[in-house]
Amino acid sequence: VKDSGPPSLSVGAILGKVRARDPHQAEFLQAVEEVLRSLTPVLDKHPEYLPVVERLVEPERVVQFRVAWLDDAGVQQVNRGFRVQFNQALGPYKGGLRFHPSVTLSIIKFLGFEQILKNSLTTLAMGGAKGGSDFDPRGKSDNEVMKFCQSFMTELFRHIGPDTDVPAGDINVGGREIGFLFGQYKRLTVHYEGVLTGKALQWGGSLLRPEATGYGLVYYAQEVLRGMGKDLKGMRCLVSGSGNVAQYTVEKLLHLGALPVTLSDSSGYIYEKDGFTPDRLQHVLDLKQKKRARISEYTKKFNTAVYVDGAKPWAVDSAVVAFPCATQNEVTEADAQRLVDAGVKYVFEGANMPSTAEAIAVYLRAGVVYGPAKAANAGGVAVSGLEMAQNSQRFPWSKEEVDDKLQGIMRSIYTESMAAAQEYGMAATDPGALQAGANIAGFVKVAEAML
Ligand code: GLU
Repeated sequence: VKDSGPPSLSVGAILGKVRARDPHQAEFLQAVEEVLRSLTPVLDKHPEYLPVVERLVEPERVVQFRVAWLDDAGVQQVNRGFRVQFNQALGPYKGGLRFHPSVTLSIIKFLGFEQILKNSLTTLAMGGAKGGSDFDPRGKSDNEVMKFCQSFMTELFRHIGPDTDVPAGDINVGGREIGFLFGQYKRLTVHYEGVLTGKALQWGGSLLRPEATGYGLVYYAQEVLRGMGKDLKGMRCLVSGSGNVAQYTVEKLLHLGALPVTLSDSSGYIYEKDGFTPDRLQHVLDLKQKKRARISEYTKKFNTAVYVDGAKPWAVDSAVVAFPCATQNEVTEADAQRLVDAGVKYVFEGANMPSTAEAIAVYLRAGVVYGPAKAANAGGVAVSGLEMAQNSQRFPWSKEEVDDKLQGIMRSIYTESMAAAQEYGMAATDPGALQAGANIAGFVKVAEAML
């Protein structure tokens, strides 16, 4: 097959086709362009992969559906639901669900595309998928969220299964939502099985799944820094976001003696000059997890912090490491320049695609080491994969066992990425090596499986 494959389109022609087919899907195009740019040296050496690329950029299946539900006033509400089953070469489709008013097919496709390579990097058997809805849970009662989730699952259940497609959480989909979704799946199918990950412990969840993305992100940063003879200990860190990823990033940074000084939401950021402490972080967790409050509420209890309305944390001085953990394209070109000017030397992405293409160019020009999302935040889906393994065995693992495996996976993502970058001619010291390496290592495994 490799020697006599069919004649294929060039990378440029494939990109042209993607652009022409979906000219309005800006986020999806951004994700595809970023990956294909890294693959140039691979495709020069392995032209047999080109037909695979043409197939890879088109989802295997896109499901779009209506989600109608009744709010607490008895008024009908109608949202749009999606599941993009992007690629099943390495295992069952796997990826989270996002509930946010900004959700469109372009957003779900970029996330699903990223998920293919991210899941490949974890070394576990998982294909790539993503789903979600434009439903906005902000201001909704528990009952309304339940009604919405039940209606969402009433359509989704026919497309998923433990060996078919295993959704999980993403923005605004946490333990509460996974619970409502799982309950409805059982009622519809009478199957008690590991069809979702991120479940609570009592019904098949894995220890450390809530912490996994944040912890994994910091483990990855630690590996990268170690490889350069450095240590996170004592380093001032900027963290954006204040959801699941940001919370456990700060927690792990504290465990390792680093100094996280910021958190944010879409309204503004808080700055703890001398760093968060376990007590202060606990207050953030209470505000966000129990009260679902805005981050500005934090300064009512801790006046050690300042709240800056309408701004992002990237210009805070004398920080060395930045962890964007909020959402896609949160770091623009101007933000990246602010980061560089403020002295940041390392960026590790906790959110999916948080840096625009222009921002990445600024990092690399300034010599900032860039740890891309699909490698740096793969700890979440990695522990989802471990949850699937525990569900199949019907036997839960200890916290130590899960943590040990998570650390091993993050280490292997770093070493595999570095090895791939070097194999294709990049120096280990190149600030873009981790980006190119993650794209190449993730892709080659999928390409081989597809061939
Ligand atoms: N939403 C997470 C991600 O972006 C986790 C997905 C999962 O656990 O399936 O990787």
